[in-house]
Amino acid sequence: MVVEDETSLATLLGNYLERDGFDVTVANDGLKAVEIARVVDPDIVILDLGLPGLDGIEVCRQLRTFSNAYVVMLTARSDEIDTLIGLSVGADDYMTKPFSPRELMARIQVMLRRPRNGAPNTIDTAQARTFGPLTIDPLGRDVWLAGEAVPLTRTEFDLLAVLSERPSMAFSRQQLIEAVWDSNWVGDPHLVDVHIGHLRRKLGSDADHTEFIRTVRGVGYRMGTGE
Ligand code: CA
Repeated sequence: MVVEDETSLATLLGNYLERDGFDVTVANDGLKAVEIARVVDPDIVILDLGLPGLDGIEVCRQLRTFSNAYVVMLTARSDEIDTLIGLSVGADDYMTKPFSPRELMARIQVMLRRPRNGAPNTIDTAQARTFGPLTIDPLGRDVWLAGEAVPLTRTEFDLLAVLSERPSMAFSRQQLIEAVWDSNWVGDPHLVDVHIGHLRRKLGSDADHTEFIRTVRGVGYRMGTGE
């Protein structure tokens, strides 16, 4: 779905997406965008920030109450991106105009390779998972510990979602990289350890000796029960 009031840009993006095999729906204002999204249930939403009716922030907020679509927000100025990230409106990626449609298509392909737990066609994995005092809601991308929301970065959440989807499986660092980043990602596999470290701290494993993410020696990591 393309939400953009600049009709020439909307058409251009629609053409690129169709060429990549997507079914495209275009909305030219924010109110219509929300209405249409309820009907077409898009997988990906390319969302302009500056829109008549509702602005992109409000559209994204409303979208998030019923949709788990990937959202790429388009902004007119690069300094708006930091503000948007700070507002945590729930977009997955941001691009500043003018941008190359080809680059946008490349980013979409990378996004689609990331696991999206709770996608509308995977009812089972969309259900909240509980590990002792820890609850993970893949659909809302929320995590609670003893009833309190735990603020996680996107990558931390994705790691936790992958581990908790198959709690009995020990994942290697490479498997986690492929699931969370991209199979073509080239970098230090120990980046996984850094994110797992942050995740463990946020889940309070130091303070109360609970272990939600266990180290499997010689392999990598697996989900723990929090005991
Ligand atoms: Ca606009």
